Amino acid sequence: MHENRLAYLSGYSFKTLRFDKAVLPVGSTEYHGDHLPYGTDALVAEKLAEEAAGRVEGVLVLPTLPFGMSLHYASFPISLTLTTGTLISVLKEIFSSLLRHGILKLLVINGHDGNIAAIEAASREFRVEHPELKIAVLEAWWETAARSLPEGTFEAMGGLGHGGEGETSMMLALAPELVDMSRARGMEPRLPEGVQVKWLFHEITPYGVTGDPGKATREKGVMMRDALLDLLVSFLKRMDEDDWSLRRASEG
Ligand SMILES: [Zn+2]
Repeated sequence: MHENRLAYLSGYSFKTLRFDKAVLPVGSTEYHGDHLPYGTDALVAEKLAEEAAGRVEGVLVLPTLPFGMSLHYASFPISLTLTTGTLISVLKEIFSSLLRHGILKLLVINGHDGNIAAIEAASREFRVEHPELKIAVLEAWWETAARSLPEGTFEAMGGLGHGGEGETSMMLALAPELVDMSRARGMEPRLPEGVQVKWLFHEITPYGVTGDPGKATREKGVMMRDALLDLLVSFLKRMDEDDWSLRRASEG
């Protein structure tokens, strides 16, 4: 397997290897409870990007964006956050850079809930101006993973929650040396169905964690990781078959 992470490639290697696609991991730097590292969201997005890219031809792994929109988590120490407007600008300027150098297919792997709005706005607006850059997004891996696994896999909140059962399980699979299960503590908030309340994080948990990280296991994390990698790899291969066109052949 050749090196495909841009930060580690020489100019010579980049010119020699052929990359027609890029994957951009987008993370955050914010409190994830007393048991998980601040870089959790960046780390998960990056590992998924690297492992998926390693299984498909022609994928360049871009450096991980370590900062996201974390204002709603900022009541817990320490949160290094961009505002949504800044993140939209950063993303659009990365998109422009790829376009300038002829990389016209991009998969964004997002690790953090606060980034979803910015990624949505940036990619929708950019594509209207520059339809030649194709952009795909895995916007909430935690929801996609939870949906891909058999019902009953998770004990608390269906595996969702910030620093909760799912995310902690994923970290136990990807970077167990960074998880301190002896300090895993969370709380299930009382959130209504169907309508989103725009909470500040301290309003729904005193621990900086929602869900129950104590129920996390490495096995659940491995299942989540494998389900996501299968999905990403088959997505990339399927899109490549038709040069990322979304029309059925009969429609021309
Ligand atoms: Zn997180």
